[in-house]
Amino acid sequence: MNLHELTAHEVRNRVARREVSAEEVARAFLERRDAVEERLQAFITPLDAEAVLSQARAVDEALARGESAGLLCGVPVAVKDNICTAGLRTTCASRLLADWVPPYDATVVRRLRRAGAVIVGKTNMDEFAMGSSTENSAFFPTRNPWDPRRVPGGSSGGSAAAVAAGAAALALGSDTGGSIRQPAALCGVVGLKPTYGRVSRYGLVAFASSLDQIGPLARDVTDAALALAVIAGRDPLDATSAPEPPGDYLAALERGVRGLRIGAPREMFEAEGVDPAVRDLTVAALETLAELGAAVEECRLPTATAGLDAYYIVAPAEASSNLARYDGVRYGLRVPGADIVEMFERTRGRGFGPEVRRRIMLGTFALSAGYYDAYYRRAQQVRARIRREFEEAFERFDLLASPTSPTVAFPLGERTADPLAMYASDICTVTANLAGIPAISLPCGFEGGLPAGLQLMAPPFQEERLLAAAAAYERATGWHRRRPPLGLIASAGEGGA
Ligand code: GLN
Repeated sequence: MNLHELTAHEVRNRVARREVSAEEVARAFLERRDAVEERLQAFITPLDAEAVLSQARAVDEALARGESAGLLCGVPVAVKDNICTAGLRTTCASRLLADWVPPYDATVVRRLRRAGAVIVGKTNMDEFAMGSSTENSAFFPTRNPWDPRRVPGGSSGGSAAAVAAGAAALALGSDTGGSIRQPAALCGVVGLKPTYGRVSRYGLVAFASSLDQIGPLARDVTDAALALAVIAGRDPLDATSAPEPPGDYLAALERGVRGLRIGAPREMFEAEGVDPAVRDLTVAALETLAELGAAVEECRLPTATAGLDAYYIVAPAEASSNLARYDGVRYGLRVPGADIVEMFERTRGRGFGPEVRRRIMLGTFALSAGYYDAYYRRAQQVRARIRREFEEAFERFDLLASPTSPTVAFPLGERTADPLAMYASDICTVTANLAGIPAISLPCGFEGGLPAGLQLMAPPFQEERLLAAAAAYERATGWHRRRPPLGLIASAGEGGA
């Protein structure tokens, strides 16, 4: 077996036992990354070999000195390009930040380094995390490792593709309305959005601050638990990070699903656009969970699908405020003008791509006098109702389940001309962000050679329960062990849509 095929926990254990050096692991992943990158374009900034190897050597030297092995020692990790890395440009896939180099590490990056992770690069994404296909990147689209004519999902598409293809053992993404879970589903990997506040957002470039959360994209549930164990916890630098102590995520993996009550909200299975094949795979996954001892039952979440409408008011509203800081004065691009107003206009006009401009306009409109009550306030009311419906559902159920994405990976270009079609990809994922609850996506089968994802949702801070059920499902099915066909990636040529 090639080292790049190992999961993060396998890498970690071998490196910790000194069976293989972190440097050997890094070389194997670098080789793999460079072999697949031309086809996939998962990285905006792949670190050069020396920058990767020197991190790995530092891990080996620390182990040689007798220092204890961190939870991610020697694990090659890819980081979404909206998460700040000191001295390494962080572009948010935007022309506005194309040359911006942060002076500090995000808290999650600091924690990764402390745990012995080896960062291999910054991954492609939709500009400022706005999108569901990674086609809104200002630089280039990323391709799906299962079929290079299709999207990897978004906005953390580069992270998902990198993990699926073995260019990294693990990756970080961010999830505002589904951006970890949906690309995980479309690339056949595990994606976990923690409870709002479970992971520090310090150093995550803000999109919608009340919804954003960082989490892992991983090859299996154990790796997702490992990553969460490293990044979770209170951070004095993020006032919204939660004081609750993190759970024992690794121990939770052994708990199983026996006796857990799982609700299947009918609205999420019957929502417009849910592909019958994806629905069938999700239903089959629920049957498997029932065989494993869970009590599965249909339930109602009447406002769930209105979540999409509320999300596309709340998220742009917050974005319009957060993105006001990109004015040509403080960060990144500056396009000079005759006076300061013209400078603002030119900088923002040229710096932001069309989807980001659309969101700023939508958000500004929704917040403006005379429209605030009609749009923003109503959206907040829907959000409050969704929270209540989840609270009520979680009185009866330990977990809720649904498809992650209504469809498998779609062809590049299919939805770029129709923003509403693109937004529809988020129908099953945005509610977890609006409610602030944790949710995981895991591979649950294939349709036409493309992976589909099962989404499990839990009450706030019940990541252990999510991981327990997900691990039991994964052990029983083994979908996560499938890898994208090597031939598709290795052979050049037939990439164009
Ligand atoms: N697709 C959603 C959007 O475009 C969610 C993005 C995200 O989670 N960052 O806003």
